[in-house]
Amino acid sequence: MTDDPIIIMEFDHQSRLRKVRKRLSRRGLDGFLVAGKKNIYYLCGFSGEDSWLLVTAERAILITDFRFQEQAAASLPPECEVSLRTRKSLNAKAAELCREHSLKKIGFEERHLSYGEFYRLKKSLRSRELMPVGELVEELRMIKYPEEIDLLRRSARMTTRVLSLVMKGLTPSLTELDVAGRINIALLRDGGRSAFSPIVATGLRSSQPHAVASHHSIGGGNVLLIDMGAESEAYNSDMTRTFILGDFPRKFKTIYRAVLGAQKKAIRLIRPGVTASSIDGVARRYLEERGYGSYFGHSLGHGVGLEVHERPVISSRSRDVIKKGMVFTVEPGVYIPGWGGIRIEDTVMVTEDECEILTEYPKDLESMVQKMKG
Ligand code: ZN
Ligand code: ZN
Repeated sequence: MTDDPIIIMEFDHQSRLRKVRKRLSRRGLDGFLVAGKKNIYYLCGFSGEDSWLLVTAERAILITDFRFQEQAAASLPPECEVSLRTRKSLNAKAAELCREHSLKKIGFEERHLSYGEFYRLKKSLRSRELMPVGELVEELRMIKYPEEIDLLRRSARMTTRVLSLVMKGLTPSLTELDVAGRINIALLRDGGRSAFSPIVATGLRSSQPHAVASHHSIGGGNVLLIDMGAESEAYNSDMTRTFILGDFPRKFKTIYRAVLGAQKKAIRLIRPGVTASSIDGVARRYLEERGYGSYFGHSLGHGVGLEVHERPVISSRSRDVIKKGMVFTVEPGVYIPGWGGIRIEDTVMVTEDECEILTEYPKDLESMVQKMKG
């Protein structure tokens, strides 16, 4: 079904490792244990489980086990090497390598190391110092490399293609679960998979921002909210459209216009140098001025990449500043208990002086009117 040609991507792992090493030396660290699965993938292209990556000034060593030996050999770039932890725990092997390389001050990812792992690692490392590094790799991941942008575009195209396909086959007797199932299958057929369980919410249920698809039939209510995204070659996309089935109530129109207006206003503001909180602020104010402020209870957006939710955070509390190459969602919504909800979400990419919408799917009011038959 896909018309997207298969592309073999060359990732610049050397540049990624260089950036990490620069940050390590700034903090006076001579080693760094990467435990976050996506961070390991980002730095060395390995996607297996139960593995850590030890980065030193000269080496990048993947600590893994027999199960992933072949996969590691096939996926690691030349600047990385494998060390099997044969019959040893991850922390014992990591400690052994730290001793071998005479590392004294080692950074670790407190977000990805459990307390138990940390405790055992500290014991194995004895007098060596362990220092938390915060979101060191996550912060690098905020700015996408051109090859990542290509994959994100591809993932976004898959999302819009699949939604078009699924929308064509909708009938009122289908349930929310049927629609979610069709989305999942269409994504698999297109060579990807769902980045997350699709949210399909009809009628009153659409006022729950994260409603789980249920046995309710989609013909039972006017509003049909679909929030979905593809994961393609490890990269995600995220998009929401809210449709109207059959009748076209005035209240729906008014709220839809307010949500779309808020989204457009926020998108117009996006460019390098603006703060994430000001983007959230402009959409929030737009809805407040129209009396919907209290019905928009979540943040405006989130970064998208190897994870569906990553940095930057687009919220009123965010301290992130927008830079070229960032990819994130803009998703205002109005949720009124007892009536329903409307959310419009796109994944956008920041360019030199504005942003580009990656999830190109119609969202003007007329396009959203789906006349259901039967
Ligand atoms: Zn979403
Ligand atoms: Zn989202």
